[in-house]
Amino acid sequence: MKQFIDNIFSMFYPRLCVGCGNALRQNEELLCLPCLLHLPETHFHQQHDQVLRDVFAGRVPVREVASLLYYNKGSIVQHILHQLKYKGEKEIGRYLGSYYGRQLAKEPRFRSVDCILPIPLHSRKLRKRGYNQSEWIAMGLSEGMGISYLTDVLVRTQFTETQTKKSRFNRWENVKEVFGVQHPEKIRYKHVLVCDDVLTTGATMEAAIQHLVGIEGVTVSVVTLATATH
Ligand SMILES: [Zn+2]
Repeated sequence: MKQFIDNIFSMFYPRLCVGCGNALRQNEELLCLPCLLHLPETHFHQQHDQVLRDVFAGRVPVREVASLLYYNKGSIVQHILHQLKYKGEKEIGRYLGSYYGRQLAKEPRFRSVDCILPIPLHSRKLRKRGYNQSEWIAMGLSEGMGISYLTDVLVRTQFTETQTKKSRFNRWENVKEVFGVQHPEKIRYKHVLVCDDVLTTGATMEAAIQHLVGIEGVTVSVVTLATATH
């Protein structure tokens, strides 16, 4: 009976593939089989990948850097990430995070990771979006790797530039958010994995990692769902 109702329901409200927008079959979850089979995986986690590590060279010390997918303009990956960030499809972050987490768990280079830290979202964006996509990726990685993720360590902090002579209306333009660390004791002497949706210039990552490497004994690695560098 439930099956019957499900079938009727999906006739009117078909679940759509997050990659291509086609209707999903009954046994498909978020991505249709063709999209799943054609995901442009980098397999970077299986090698000590210098290309990605070079993004951070001379900027901040990182141990490992890995990305699940290649990011190209107009590609299915761009579409998936757009759905993840702007269309409420947070489950795809968890799904791909878990998929990658299971692969990373098999790699000796990632076995020493103690915990996962999602890049926190700008508070204004968080209010608008209602969720942090990086947190959903962290949730998936956590499930796949069997280690916990912490959302109260790496945080956004606000500081306001001089308020004098600023009107009530443009005041907010002078509020900048930067990263900060709370509860440093939770990551002391640990290997932390910072995760985000896409790696481009590495500027956001760098800003966050700067705060982490200042903590005693912390080693940082980076994982993203996609990379624009390749
Ligand atoms: Zn599809």
